[in-house]
Amino acid sequence: MATIPTRSAILTELYPNEPAFRIKQINAGLFDVNNTSIHDITTLPAHMRDTLTESEFPWMSVRLHTMFESKRGDTWKAILKGADDKLFETVLMRNKRNQWSICVSSQIGCAMKCTFCATGTMGLKRSLTSDEITDQYRFWQQFVASREDLDERISNVVFMGMGEPLANYAAVKETIHTWLKFTDLGPTKITVSSVGILSQLEKILTDDDWPPVRIAISLHSANQKRREEIVPTTVPDFLSHLADWSRRYDATKGNRNHHITYEYVLLAGVNDTEDIAYELAKYIHKTGVSKVNVIPYNPVAGKPFTRGDKDRIDAFKHILLSKGITVTQRKTMGDDIAAACGQLVIAQQPT
Ligand code: SAH
Repeated sequence: MATIPTRSAILTELYPNEPAFRIKQINAGLFDVNNTSIHDITTLPAHMRDTLTESEFPWMSVRLHTMFESKRGDTWKAILKGADDKLFETVLMRNKRNQWSICVSSQIGCAMKCTFCATGTMGLKRSLTSDEITDQYRFWQQFVASREDLDERISNVVFMGMGEPLANYAAVKETIHTWLKFTDLGPTKITVSSVGILSQLEKILTDDDWPPVRIAISLHSANQKRREEIVPTTVPDFLSHLADWSRRYDATKGNRNHHITYEYVLLAGVNDTEDIAYELAKYIHKTGVSKVNVIPYNPVAGKPFTRGDKDRIDAFKHILLSKGITVTQRKTMGDDIAAACGQLVIAQQPT
């Protein structure tokens, strides 16, 4: 399929002479759950509102294929269809404050091939358009609004679904700006999680238009050789470049809300021993103000990894804490519906 046109490209083509505020009205109207098509945006003049058909201006760029609900009733996973019918996944989770976090995909599949991750086994099918990323929020917004039993507020978005967000930089950035403009999400409520593509991380430092969202980097090892084994896209000297970048990020963009978080998937016997915890603590100190988020491994069929027991995970965390590192642990959610971190995969795409 040829490139999928975005709503903003369609509007610019259809209405080259309309003032910018009209386009804004349409974009704002997209996020009002009472609207089901452009015809419902009554503030628009009739010539814009009444003549457009759904095929000229797709109100929603994603459609539901299948919905899964976890047994605990705190996690939903939706398989969505893009404009070309390709499938990808998005997740809704109830957070501690009884509000919602959503985990969005930035690509269909992923080119990064991290050895422990289900999405990596798909390879990269394509990047999502900014509409398809934006509409994962709208999809869940409409879902929670349609359920009387669910609180309606989506309070957090994490780019931790399928794909590598910094490999789809422009669309991810456009999406974030759209959400910041038209939803009540603030920049600290949005987290972009990246495997750490150095050129793209550099771009963030010099891009004045990059929004002040939180950044999380998937580290998984503070040893260059081991990192190359676990994350095969690791470039030579990655860890020293990353520590240097992290200090520069801290100096230019860092503040209380904008320290870097390092994500660390704990793979039993591979990267979770005591020696390795000390090695990690040492590295983290070199990165400036950073914290570590440990992620207990979520099983993926066919992968040789296992999750360590609670004592093993706690021992690893305690070593980091004893070295003055701020440590959080990712709560496993939706593992019964393969919705937990790294479990998102579509084995077969429609042909
Ligand atoms: N490409 C981005 C987003 C990936 S998903 C990135 O690499 O950060 C978000 C997090 O889930 C990443 O830290 C990723 O390494 C982790 N993850 C992947 N597979 C996992 C698994 N099976 N168990 C636990 N965490 C996993």
